[in-house]
Amino acid sequence: MDGKKLQKKLAHEWKNAWEVMDEKEEEKTFQIAKEYKEFLDKGKTEREAASEIIRIAQENGYISLDEIIDKKTGITPGMKIYANYKDKSVALFVIGEEKLEKGMHIIGSHLDAPRIDLKQFPLYEDSGLGLCKTHYYGGIKKYQWVTLPLALHGVVIREDGEKLNIVIGEDEEDPVFFITDLLPHLAKDQMTKTMAEGITGEGLNLLIGSIPYKDDEISDKVKLNVLNILYQKYGIKEEDFTTAEFEIVPAGKARDVGIDRSMVGGYGQDDRVCVFTSLKAILDIDSPRKTAVALFVDKEEIGSVGNASMESKFFENTVSELVNIVEENYSELIVKRTMANSCVLSADTLGAFDPNYPDVLDKLNAPFMGKGVTIVKYTGVKGKSSSNDANSEYISKIRKIFNDNDVVWQMGELGKVDQGGGGTIAYILANYGMEVVDCGVALLSVHAPYEIASKADIYMAYKGYKAFYDA
Ligand code: MN
Ligand code: MN
Repeated sequence: MDGKKLQKKLAHEWKNAWEVMDEKEEEKTFQIAKEYKEFLDKGKTEREAASEIIRIAQENGYISLDEIIDKKTGITPGMKIYANYKDKSVALFVIGEEKLEKGMHIIGSHLDAPRIDLKQFPLYEDSGLGLCKTHYYGGIKKYQWVTLPLALHGVVIREDGEKLNIVIGEDEEDPVFFITDLLPHLAKDQMTKTMAEGITGEGLNLLIGSIPYKDDEISDKVKLNVLNILYQKYGIKEEDFTTAEFEIVPAGKARDVGIDRSMVGGYGQDDRVCVFTSLKAILDIDSPRKTAVALFVDKEEIGSVGNASMESKFFENTVSELVNIVEENYSELIVKRTMANSCVLSADTLGAFDPNYPDVLDKLNAPFMGKGVTIVKYTGVKGKSSSNDANSEYISKIRKIFNDNDVVWQMGELGKVDQGGGGTIAYILANYGMEVVDCGVALLSVHAPYEIASKADIYMAYKGYKAFYDA
């Protein structure tokens, strides 16, 4: 056999999705990216994303689990159900033909993204400027967050119990906020510091005003003026900040990137790119063989802790409720079987190969922009530590589903051995005995205020997730 033929038969090359797609698919790719950008703009916090998911689910005929429990309506195959937890985590179910205890097909992603939170007593005045103290959330490079137009999103509960959703900085008429940086002319000392130390956590103070309240008798006049504006507009007082979850995120909308419009740039794509694509996939599912689940959880970026995270009992409890409705005699054993027999795609992002930083990834095992959805067998740090190392048998099953359905996919890892690493929610679901593998979209500039995704990869993630639910 000549070498060329043998090579074609034996060697494997990952395909570029743009080169594989026909015109119709390319059109669909751009259409889905348009919907995706709108989703990103509507859900810049975990709460906003959760509420948008629920709105879309209701529009598509999903019924609240609470309502089903209240009204004692049964559950039948094809039924679409959503469970809302603390307005921060959501699970969507499409009930399958098979019994629950045969297992579910779950795609799990996270709704939170790295950002800067206001502290609980944030407001102060210094040198004629009104400022807010902040505490960053998740893994950010602090120097990336200065001198950007920033918006405030969040909730606050007034003393009278009224809960307010506040967004300032997204409407073009809105003011924005800002974290200052030092002018280069005076940055001699700063520029000798490491990138980790050049901008400090306590230095990320948000500029929010500068007009003093007109009264000669008082101090902190700028702060008072800010408080007065907030009171006039929202009826909130300084003490109300203690109840608030105010998140500072980059202001503005997601945009097309590149002269060919092949990419999406925007805030919070880790992990809302997987949130959106799995949401879109489950909306296309009507009568699956196995119960399809799209799971969207909070707090992944700070280690999946807290009652709305994957580590919480939220999902297990929700499945218990379903089992209780479906089974004549509820038993914990059925819940355990339901969980253990399930298959999961842990849908999360990872860093795509970046030619500006070629040294941190092994080119043979790195995911590339445009080469489709990425399967990641293991994550972790220093010798796969704390990683869900997916089983051969399961990867083989996912490979077959993807190949049978013309999903362009690639294999990837987080980075070079001992270069660093990270984790996802994969290992938590694996604790139940579920088969789990990480499978998501590779991004450029992960965790930066503006992250970049390939539209082809977004489309292939959607296509792959849908094929998984259909299997
Ligand atoms: Mn993530
Ligand atoms: Mn992340």
